Amino acid sequence: MTEDTSRMPYQLPFPRDAQAEIVIPNAADCDDRLWVPQAKNVWFRPLCLNRSQGYWMNLLKVRKAGVLSRHRHPQPVHGFVLKGRWHYLEHDWIAEEGGYVYEPPGETHTLVVPDDVEEMITYFQVNGVMCYVDPWGSVTGYEDVFTKIDLCRKHFAEAGLGEDYVDQFIR
Ligand code: FE
Repeated sequence: MTEDTSRMPYQLPFPRDAQAEIVIPNAADCDDRLWVPQAKNVWFRPLCLNRSQGYWMNLLKVRKAGVLSRHRHPQPVHGFVLKGRWHYLEHDWIAEEGGYVYEPPGETHTLVVPDDVEEMITYFQVNGVMCYVDPWGSVTGYEDVFTKIDLCRKHFAEAGLGEDYVDQFIR
């Protein structure tokens, strides 16, 4: 008789050099101190800051209407709207609660939160770098996984959690 292995966990050790998983219950509904300020009334909540592959996963929370930023993506971005609504000046679609957005490499767009939205929360995976630009494409600033980690360290230290608090999100 052969043994039924359908419910048997994997029996071998994981690769010696594999990294630990990250598990965050209720990621959006967290202690205020975990929301890292990015601008006035704009915060991000780190989930996975992947320095080895150069991307970051975060929740972006915005409590203001109007233009948030204009930026170019040399690499793809995936977004899932958890709350509220937003759009880009360059496109006629609207990203709404429950909706998914793929931003292909080469996109330059200007993110706007409509006046009637009190709070927007979107889960973003951003790869590589985000370049902030003027309307003609001149770069005015950038963000990458390392600037995100630095912002987290500074904020977590100031919030009394210690700058090492970010380490749990870094892979
Ligand atoms: Fe974007």
